[in-house]
Amino acid sequence: MMRVVVLGAAAGGGVPQWNCGCSVCRAAFADRDLRRTQASLAVSADGDHWFLINASPDLRQQVIATPQLHPKPGALRHSPIAGVILTNGEVDAVAGLLSMREGSPFAIYAHAKVLAILKANSIFNVLNEKLVSRRPIETDRRFEPTLPDGTPSGLGVVAFAVPGKGAWYLEGQAHPGGDVADGDTLGLTITDKATGQSIHVLTACARVTDDLKARLAGAPLVLFDGTVWRDDELITAGLGHKTGQAMGHIAMSGDAGAIAALGDLDIARKLFVHINNSNPALLCCSAEREAAERAGWEIPSDGTEVTL
Ligand SMILES: [Zn+2]
Repeated sequence: MMRVVVLGAAAGGGVPQWNCGCSVCRAAFADRDLRRTQASLAVSADGDHWFLINASPDLRQQVIATPQLHPKPGALRHSPIAGVILTNGEVDAVAGLLSMREGSPFAIYAHAKVLAILKANSIFNVLNEKLVSRRPIETDRRFEPTLPDGTPSGLGVVAFAVPGKGAWYLEGQAHPGGDVADGDTLGLTITDKATGQSIHVLTACARVTDDLKARLAGAPLVLFDGTVWRDDELITAGLGHKTGQAMGHIAMSGDAGAIAALGDLDIARKLFVHINNSNPALLCCSAEREAAERAGWEIPSDGTEVTL
């Protein structure tokens, strides 16, 4: 049995974002139920050992809010978190690692490019490599993350390249891991080895290709990039000058959007994650929320758990 917990459903900045006065953020400052922390998931094959998909800047708050991730009773030092799988090197995917610096063993799995970003930033040396191993993952090659004592986790993971872009803070700079685009944005297919069931996680995706459709078709669960409702949403709201596409994110709506592209793939459950605070689908009674739900999509709250 595989369990998946949405630790945080929001994109970078969270909902509300500390300095944002957009209509969704204003509503979320007033209404706790609208709030969401920055994107991260936890996955487990046995319910006792968990792997994070990205470590968001809100990780400490997410651990406190998630009983599955609390230290086990009676242990002086313990965490059910056995590892962190990074899908990119953005601040909102890696900053939470800095909150995991208190001497517990776990493993970081990431593409060599993302590991190069961690190595190039000496602040990540707070994670002692004797306790926190850094393991490179290759695209299209299945691996099984292990527990801190070396035993198998029961999960099979395949990372695959998805259309996207590199870390924004490296734009225009030489990438410490080399210049090829491969590895900048990864999707993950995670399989419960006991049941053979596979889920797919794409917290960033700029386009849905035919290859991607074939991969996602018939899945029991897909967690997909829900950053913006419309491609030009940040511009029309006066919040920024970039389109969703320029940031490496497909829109939810529109002819080329995620709802249309994944509409006929027979996916049992579809959850949007990495939802930006500009996205009106976050508001529970908006027309956009209703349209997404009518199309079979869920806009999860933090803490939503799916069992397969
Ligand atoms: Zn906002």
